[in-house]
Amino acid sequence: MSLHLEAEILELTTRHPFLIARGGQALHHTVWVRVRDDDGCVGWGEAAPTTYYGETPETVLAALNVYAAQLPHDPFELEVAERALKNALGENPAARAAVSTALHDLVGKRLGVPLYRLWGLDPKATPISTFTIGLDTSDKMRAKVLEAEPYPVLKVKLGTNRDEEILRTIRGATDKELRVDANCSWTRKQAIRMLPVLEEFGVTVLEQPLPAHDRDGLAAVTRAARMPVIADESCLVASDIPPLVGAVDGINIKLAKCGSLREALRMIAVARAHGMMVMVGCMIESSIGITAAAHFTPLVDIVDLDGAALLAADPFVGATIDRGRIVLPSGPGLGVRAR
Ligand code: MG
Repeated sequence: MSLHLEAEILELTTRHPFLIARGGQALHHTVWVRVRDDDGCVGWGEAAPTTYYGETPETVLAALNVYAAQLPHDPFELEVAERALKNALGENPAARAAVSTALHDLVGKRLGVPLYRLWGLDPKATPISTFTIGLDTSDKMRAKVLEAEPYPVLKVKLGTNRDEEILRTIRGATDKELRVDANCSWTRKQAIRMLPVLEEFGVTVLEQPLPAHDRDGLAAVTRAARMPVIADESCLVASDIPPLVGAVDGINIKLAKCGSLREALRMIAVARAHGMMVMVGCMIESSIGITAAAHFTPLVDIVDLDGAALLAADPFVGATIDRGRIVLPSGPGLGVRAR
C-alpha cells in the first residue's frame, strides 16, 4: 500500500478578534491535511501553526512536502511513522501533529472504530471545556460573557495593565467558575501580588503566570497559590515534564506544541507518573484539530477546547460542546465530516 498526502490552507475567522497578552487578530490560517491510501480511504488532520512556536502556514506546507516522502507503507505503523517524521525534520510540531492526526484518522476509518475506542476510553468521561473570554474593552467583555451563556466555566485571558479591572468586570457579569491564563506575562512580583486578587474573584486555576523559562519563579508562585498552577508555554513535550515537577501542579498539552497524538498520550503518562494534573488546550482551529484532541480528553482533568467554538463559521463538524461538556462523535477515526 502507498499513502499520498494533500494539503490545503484554511481561512478561519473568529467571531471577535481573539486577543491574548501577546496580541492577536480575527483572521487565522490553519492547514488541512489529507492522507489517502490506495483504497481511496482518506484520513484528515489539521495543523494550527503559531509564530510563537516558530510556525506559519507557509512553513507547515514546506514541512509537509518533506513529510509526504516519509509516510509509511502501512498506516498502522504509527509509532514508526511519527519517529520517521521527527527524524526527517524536527520541530514543526503543528505540521507533524496534522500528519499524525491524519494517520490515526485513517487507521480508525480502516478499522471502523472511533479513536477513543481504539484507545479504550469511555466517551462519557469527557470533562467540561472552558470557553475563553479574550482581552477586550469592558463593555465587549460583558457582551462576550453573555454570549458564553451555554458554557458553565469561563477562561479569562490576563496579562494587561488592567487585570484586576478585567476580573471585576467579568465577575460582575457572572457567577460562573473562572480560570485565568496570563500567557507568560507577569513578573514574579506581579504574580504574587495578583494571587489574593484571583482568590477574591474565585479563580480556580492559574495558567502560565510567568515567562516559559522561569521554573524557579513558577515554583514560588505555586507555593504561594491556593489554586493549581498549570504550565503551558513552559511545557511542550513529555521530556519537559520531569524538570517541572514541584514547580507547577499540572501541564497543558496542545497538539500544536507536542507534534503528535502519541506524544500527547506519553505526556499524560509522564505527568500522571509524577502525580501532576493534566490539561488539554488548543489554538484557534477548526473541528478537525479540536476533535483530535477531544478524543483523549477522557484521560485529562481540565479541558480548554473552545478553538472551533470561537469561530464565526467552522467548515467541519466533529466533537461538539453541550453545556460545556465535550461530546465525542461516534463515527470511525476522528468522526469529523464537512459541514
Ligand atoms: Mg495557555
